[in-house]
Amino acid sequence: VGDPSDEWEAYRGAPTGTDRECEGWRQEAALRMLNNNLDPEVAEKPEDLVVYGGTGRAARSWDAYDAILDQLRTLADDETMLVQSGKPVGVFQTHERAPRVLIANSNLVGKWDNWEHFHELEAEGKIMYGQMTAGSWAYIGTQGIIQGTFETLAELAREHYPDNDGLRGKIVATGGLGGMGGAQPLAVTMNHGVCIAAEVDERRIDRRIETGYCMEKTDDLDEAIRKANEAAEAGEPYSVGVYGNAADVLEGMLERGFTPDVVTDQTSAHDELEGYYPSGYTVAEADELREDDPDAYVEASLDTMERHVQAILDLQDAGAVAFEYGNNIRGQVEDHRGMDEAFDFPGFVPAYIRPLFCRGKGPFRWVALSGEEADIHRTDEAVKELFPEKDDLHRWIDLAQEQVQFQGLPSRVCWLGYHAGESEDGLTERARFALRINELVAAGEIEAPVVVTRDHLDAGSVASPNRETEAMRDGSDAIADWPILNALVNTAAGADIVSVHDGGGVGIGNALHANNHVVLDGSDLAAEKAERVFTTDPGMGVIRHADAGYEEAIDEARESDVTVPMGGE
Ligand code: NAD
Repeated sequence: VGDPSDEWEAYRGAPTGTDRECEGWRQEAALRMLNNNLDPEVAEKPEDLVVYGGTGRAARSWDAYDAILDQLRTLADDETMLVQSGKPVGVFQTHERAPRVLIANSNLVGKWDNWEHFHELEAEGKIMYGQMTAGSWAYIGTQGIIQGTFETLAELAREHYPDNDGLRGKIVATGGLGGMGGAQPLAVTMNHGVCIAAEVDERRIDRRIETGYCMEKTDDLDEAIRKANEAAEAGEPYSVGVYGNAADVLEGMLERGFTPDVVTDQTSAHDELEGYYPSGYTVAEADELREDDPDAYVEASLDTMERHVQAILDLQDAGAVAFEYGNNIRGQVEDHRGMDEAFDFPGFVPAYIRPLFCRGKGPFRWVALSGEEADIHRTDEAVKELFPEKDDLHRWIDLAQEQVQFQGLPSRVCWLGYHAGESEDGLTERARFALRINELVAAGEIEAPVVVTRDHLDAGSVASPNRETEAMRDGSDAIADWPILNALVNTAAGADIVSVHDGGGVGIGNALHANNHVVLDGSDLAAEKAERVFTTDPGMGVIRHADAGYEEAIDEARESDVTVPMGGE
C-alpha cells in the first residue's frame, strides 16, 4: 500500500468544526468519514490502511487515498465520484439529488469469486478487501458494534435464561479482541455477566483495557477461570482477556472440566491467511511464517480452526449454549476440512436477530461531523424524546453514555426499524429520527451536520448464507439480488454515499452486502433524502423477509402499508 501519506499524517483523524474544505457538506462528510475510519483511535492498523476485520481497508493504497481526497475537494454539488475497490476511477456529472460517491469493493464474478483469485489480484494492486464499513467509510470503532453485541447477548439471555437478570451469574467464553470482537467483554458486562476472552495478540488486549472494554488480562487460564467463577457466584460483572490462542484456551477449559454457560468466537476466522492465527506460534512468528510460506500458514491456520470448532462442539455437548458470531469459522472447516458437524451449532442471526430483521429493525448509527460530544448528547435526548415507550432503547442510551467511550468522531448506535404503522405521521422509525436530527441541525442546536449510516449487516442489505441469510425459510440464502436491489433503491432514493461489497465478515465469495450514508445538514434537500432513504432501506428488510414467507414481515408490511405486490409468495 506504500508509505503513509503526508495528508493522513497531518490529519490523524477526521477534520472537525464548521469550516469545510470541500464545496458542499456531502463531499466534506465523505472526506471526514474516510479520515475518521483511519483515525489511529478508530482503526486497528491505520498505517497499512487497515480499519478492522482482518484486512478490511479504507483505500487501496496511500496514492489512492491522496487521490480520493483531491477529488473530494474539487467535486461539485452535482457530480458523483466512482470508487472501485478503494481507488477513485471516475467522476461524472449527475445531479444534486444523486449520491456524491458510489463505491464497489472486492466484487468478483461467481466462478472466480474466491480468496485464491482475490489474493492474486490484491498482490497485483488491482483490488482491495473492503470488509463491511471499512471500505464504505462508515466504521466508527468498537463503539459501532457494541450495541449489536449487547442486543444479541440480551436476546440470548431472554431466550435461555428467561427468569435471570440478563447474563448475571453466567460466564461467556469467546475469542478475538479486535475491532469488532473487542466489544464482547463490555457487551457481556453491560448485561451483568462474566466474560473470558482469548486473544493471541497482547497489544489488542491492552487496547481494550485502555478503552474500558475489558477489565483485566492474564496468561494463566486457571486464574481466569477462578476469577470468573468467583465473579459469577457473586453475581458481579467481570471480564478478562486471556493471552493465548482461542483453540488452546477452549481445549484448556475442556481439560479442566470447566464448562462456560455460553461459548462463541470472534477471531478473524473468515480469512485463514491474513486474519486467523494458528496455534503454536506467537504473533511475530506467525507473521514471519505468512511471509515465508503462505501455504504452510494456511494449513496450520485451518488445522487450528478445526480444533477450535471441535472444542466449541465439545463445550456444547457439555452443556454450554454455543453460537457462531459471524466469522464463518463453521464454513471454513466444513469447506476446507470436510467437517459436516461444524454446523451443529447455529449462527447468531437465525438464533437471535432474524425476528428483528423481519420488521426492518437493524443498526442505525450517526456521527457528529463537528467533533463535539455535546452534539451526540443532544441526539441521545432526541431519540429518547421521540420514542418514550421504548424502555430497552432508553436503557441502552443511558448505558452507552455511561460506559462507551467515544473513538474518533463522536457517534452513537441504536437499532431502529420500520414500524411506520405505529406512528401518526406514517414515517418509519428511522426516518422520524433522521428528520428530527436534521431539524436540530437547522435550528443550530447541533453545531455541524450529522451523518446517518449503518452497518452492512442489516435487515435487507445482505446475502450471506453462513450469516445474515443462514437457513432462510424458503431456502433463498444465497440469492444475492437483494443487496444489489438495496444499493440500487437507495441510490434512486438519493443517499449521499452508496456502496456494494463482496466478502465482509465471512470472506470472499461468501457474501454480498450494501451500505449507505445520508448527510443531515439541516436543509430541505437533506430532509427529502432522509425521508426517502430511511423508508426504502428498512423497507427492503420487510419485503425481503415477506418474500421468504416470514409471518412477522408479512404482518409488518400489512400494518405499515409496505407494498409487496405478490403478498409474500
Ligand atoms: P480483527 O481482525 O480486528 O480482530 C481479530 C482478532 O482475533 C485479532 O485481535 C487477532 O489477534 C485475534 N485472533 C486471530 N486468530 C486468533 C486465535 N486463533 N486465537 C485468539 N485470537 C486470535 O477482526 P474484528 O473486526 O474484531 O472481527 C472479528 C471477526 O468477526 C471477523 O471474522 C469479522 O468478519 C467478524 N465480524 C462479526 C460481526 C458481527 O456482527 N458479529 C461483524 C463484523 C465482523
